[in-house]
Amino acid sequence: MKKYIYADNAATTKLDIDAFEAMKPYLLDEYGNASQPYSFSRKTKTAIKEAREIIAGCLNAKPEEIFFTSGGTESDNWAIKGTNFNSIDKHLTITSEIEHHAILNSCSAIEKLGFPVVYLKPSKEGVLTYKDLEQVISEKTKLVSIMLANNEIGTIQPIKELCDLAHRYGALFHTDAVQAVGHVSIDVEELGVDMLSASAHKFNGPKGIGFLYMNKDINITPYFHGGSQENKMRAGTENVASIVGMAVALQNKLNNMEHNIQVAETLRNKFFEELNQSGLDYIINGSSDRLPGIINISFKGASGETLLHRLDLMGICISTGSACNTNFTELSHVIKSTNVPNDYAKGTIRISLNEYNTIEEVKTIVESISKILK
Ligand code: PLP
Repeated sequence: MKKYIYADNAATTKLDIDAFEAMKPYLLDEYGNASQPYSFSRKTKTAIKEAREIIAGCLNAKPEEIFFTSGGTESDNWAIKGTNFNSIDKHLTITSEIEHHAILNSCSAIEKLGFPVVYLKPSKEGVLTYKDLEQVISEKTKLVSIMLANNEIGTIQPIKELCDLAHRYGALFHTDAVQAVGHVSIDVEELGVDMLSASAHKFNGPKGIGFLYMNKDINITPYFHGGSQENKMRAGTENVASIVGMAVALQNKLNNMEHNIQVAETLRNKFFEELNQSGLDYIINGSSDRLPGIINISFKGASGETLLHRLDLMGICISTGSACNTNFTELSHVIKSTNVPNDYAKGTIRISLNEYNTIEEVKTIVESISKILK
């Protein structure tokens, strides 16, 4: 197999080997349906229960507040639609212009059904403030949904402050924490959020599995109707192996979080040390309060898309925006919304590093960018 330098960990990550080993028995031997009463299914039932407990423990939630889903997209859809479809007494949903399309397109879907949505514009660093929310929130607001960390520029939002304000107006608060879970420490009680979305493949877990944290005191409609799985809130036979793998991956991420953050910071510093020696004209996008592994930069007069394809030919995987957007040649909505200057905006790339990357790889990435742009 061709050896790649993989620097697109915000798109997806390599599967944790412990997670893989933990999944194997549930793919091969322990295939019982967890809803069946016979003893063959006892092990799968117990595995789901234990995974739920582990995940809840990682976020300071209660096990009954964790609902397994197929990933971040489903969790986001559920939070937006499940809240709005629950009752029609309060209408307004407030979100931001820089959310992932799982939120933005869920919001346009409910708008088509007559539920109004307001989109907050962030600062040029991609930050949403208490003041921004204060200007539009009212007693009519039903839901505020603001992402914990942005997938393109890595900016971390002041979730606790925004959540307190939402609660003062009786609104629910959801955060899309898909990029943050496993990468920064999260305590749902301390943040005060009512709902939180997560996806395993962003923290070295398997693809196609995630969860929605839902505070036990809130009430939204189920997303899938059918059997009584997930306390009758999300029907469908459980993806046991992936649920188990997700719990192991998250636990491992948490156990190594300090070390992983340090590695990402070291790699990032090296990246900029090398880049600054190259003499290339670039700007850094996003705020200083950001995820450790995400580097979003724009090169003056360059084409991010060309850069991506030329780097690909050299065996280097990076991205121009979010993973779901790379087929489009137009500017990313995040870059547009944060007013990146015109002469830089088209030359934007995202490099996302984690503990699997090395200093040597970072040096090769910068050398290659430099070679292409010069
Ligand atoms: N939300 C954010 C912030 C993301 O970065 C992503 C994936 O890139 C998603 C939601 C969607 O998650 P999934 O790929 O698990 O559907």
